[in-house]
Amino acid sequence: MTQSETLFEQAQKYIPGGVNSPVRAFRGVGGTPLFFKHADGAYLYDEDDRRYIDYIGSWGPMILGHGNQIIKDALHAQVDQGIGYGAPTAIETEMAKKVCELVPSIDLVRMVNSGTEATMSTVRLARGYTGRDKIVKFEGCYHGHVDSLLVKAGSGALTLGVPNSPGIPASLAEHTLTLAFNDIESVRETFAKMGDEIAAIIVEPVAGNMNCIPPVPGFLEALREVCDEHGTVLIFDEVMTGFRVALGGAQEFYGVTPDLTALGKVIGGGLPVGAFGGKREIMEHISPLGPVYQAGTLSGNPLAMCAGLATLNAISEPGFHDRLTEKTNAVRDGLKEAADSTGVPLAVQSAGAMFGFFFADAPKITRFDQVVACDAERFKKFFQGMLKEGVYLAPSAFEASFTSAALTDDDIRQTTEAARRVMKTL
Ligand code: PLP
Repeated sequence: MTQSETLFEQAQKYIPGGVNSPVRAFRGVGGTPLFFKHADGAYLYDEDDRRYIDYIGSWGPMILGHGNQIIKDALHAQVDQGIGYGAPTAIETEMAKKVCELVPSIDLVRMVNSGTEATMSTVRLARGYTGRDKIVKFEGCYHGHVDSLLVKAGSGALTLGVPNSPGIPASLAEHTLTLAFNDIESVRETFAKMGDEIAAIIVEPVAGNMNCIPPVPGFLEALREVCDEHGTVLIFDEVMTGFRVALGGAQEFYGVTPDLTALGKVIGGGLPVGAFGGKREIMEHISPLGPVYQAGTLSGNPLAMCAGLATLNAISEPGFHDRLTEKTNAVRDGLKEAADSTGVPLAVQSAGAMFGFFFADAPKITRFDQVVACDAERFKKFFQGMLKEGVYLAPSAFEASFTSAALTDDDIRQTTEAARRVMKTL
């Protein structure tokens, strides 16, 4: 029995399913989840002392790689100063200023502790601001485990086959209208019928919770247009894409400006952080300025702010995202070459420093129904094969993968060679 197997057995005695977040349980790929004890640069080390090239990066935050010295130094210094005060600190303002500089659509920003809190707060704020109840989301997009947003959701909900979670009152879910991602016509039709009742559209500008699906040209622009026509708040959930697809997020990459933005992952440098912000006029409705209530015991915690700010400063170095995008493209193209050379039909796609691959005979995947029609068995075999080769990919066909600045050309070459060996066995 491996150490991971032993630890998983013990964990299941005390933790539901042995994990604190469902996708970690490997139900989408079978087998036992790996337990890790150490991480450094682009690598994870499991409890059995095996090394893996990491393409998950703690599900996104580790854009600099693991154990980055700048983040560690910032954290050590802050630990000696104080772990938390539940009162204002200078670093919170520094962080807020940095976020407003990097994401120009954000005039005011509030820190929270997770991406879920960030999206939840944007929806409440949009409802409070417009006085409307209905919201539009897109099938296969995941915005955290918020009641109103766990309707036809992606990520673990999709991996485990529960995109509509029990426990959410029908009377709440009925206010969530779910449309097809990348389907401009259905958005226009819905808004023509009931646009004036819709508080917000919330969208992952690159869908990363049903693998990796960039927006088709015109999709985000159409969302902006209908929101402007109907006084609806456009929310970009940039928890995954923020600071990753480009320094200013997907909104910079695609040149479409939302009213509100939800942030997470990279913004915390590996600590539990989220944030939401946007137009001053809307943000002024948040308490204590306005009546829409939102609060948090640990919000703006100095350790979390330190790690996040150190990360944002490091990724603001000129050329950072160009270099990271080049690496991502090399991984993406390496997977495609491996598939082509072994005759395995594979579609690959990416946006900035996130990428995805689909076992499907199609040049491009743009829709949710195409994603669910992909060869799930092949994905599982490929995932397990790559794991044996020491490459740690997301354990679900419905998750995007991520690169980090610590990834070397040699890591990418090893990944491509491993993929070629594994593809031959599929
Ligand atoms: N929004 C998106 C796009 C996400 O990918 C996630 C998490 O993966 C969330 C929101 C929820 O963030 P958290 O898991 O930090 O609550």
